[in-house]
Amino acid sequence: MADDLSTTIAEAARLLADARDVTLLSHVNPDADTLGSALAVGLALHRRGVAVRVAFGAPEVVPESLEVLDVAGLLVHRDEVPLAPELLVVMDTGSVQRLGPLGDRVANARGPVIVVDHHVSNTRYGTVHCIDEHAEATALIALKLLDEMDVEVDEPIARCLYAGLVTDTGGFRKAGPSAHETAARLLKTGVDAYSVTRPLMDAHPFAYLGMLSRVLAKAELDQGAAHGLGLVHAVVGFEDALGVRSEEVESVIDVVRSASEAEVAAVLKELRPGHWSVSLRAVSRVDVREVAQVLGGGGHRLAAGFTFDGGSEQVVAALKGALERVGS
Ligand code: AMP
Ligand code: MN
Ligand code: MN
Repeated sequence: MADDLSTTIAEAARLLADARDVTLLSHVNPDADTLGSALAVGLALHRRGVAVRVAFGAPEVVPESLEVLDVAGLLVHRDEVPLAPELLVVMDTGSVQRLGPLGDRVANARGPVIVVDHHVSNTRYGTVHCIDEHAEATALIALKLLDEMDVEVDEPIARCLYAGLVTDTGGFRKAGPSAHETAARLLKTGVDAYSVTRPLMDAHPFAYLGMLSRVLAKAELDQGAAHGLGLVHAVVGFEDALGVRSEEVESVIDVVRSASEAEVAAVLKELRPGHWSVSLRAVSRVDVREVAQVLGGGGHRLAAGFTFDGGSEQVVAALKGALERVGS
């Protein structure tokens, strides 16, 4: 039987109330939801005198647009994460594999491993499962945890949570009434929505425009794919990604998915020559999490991803094959 969320949140809050040393981890290629949630809870604990560190497995550096959320300097390089953490909290991470090189800390932790997440595909690793697959963002569950801990959610904490909420809901397009109510609560602490969202979702260096035009010029539409529902895809090769930040590469999917002929959109991102991370999005009818899982990845029904080694044509062929296998 699935654990009741309020029970596991109460248990997690109890453990954190007694903790002296807490390590919070985010998934690889961290986004605002995983880092914002970790930094929000981390900041609350830090203010209570707890020794806190926040880290992620890859890449080496913190995405520039997220670094501003770390007002207390809690982020450390992955090499500074204790090999056997006293108390571990893992945010927005569906499986141990998604922690990359820090995945071994889950098995090696000396104390409990609290998992705060909203992925349907969560594998239930760790010991305390604060998991709600209906939550639009992990940040919403992190806020429930902070409330249970009697933390005063002020502007710096609220900003971290708002960043996760606004990005995971696609700028509130996918947010239900209670997520909007939570957004209102966060804004009332003084969060300036526009100054948080512009660097996260809208602003890019000028070089972005050149990269985007090269990549989009080669985008392809296959209306027969996905049982005739259509697939649009674009390829960001290793060379294309040189000279821009990860933020620019990650945002290409938001342009590609605007092609209205395609139910499914994909962007192939070549992280290292021959090693691809693929972003998948669906409009409403295809469960791209299932598609990603066929290929060893995961995610949500309408937003998922997987990694693949090979040439870009092989990635596209594997993707089309998986789309044929899933649903109809
Ligand atoms: P992205 O396209 O990177 O924004 O990811 C969309 C969703 O898919 C997020 O919820 C990710 O956590 C998930 N995801 C992306 N890549 C992978 C992967 N290789 N394995 C499992 N889940 C993934
Ligand atoms: Mn995430
Ligand atoms: Mn998330």
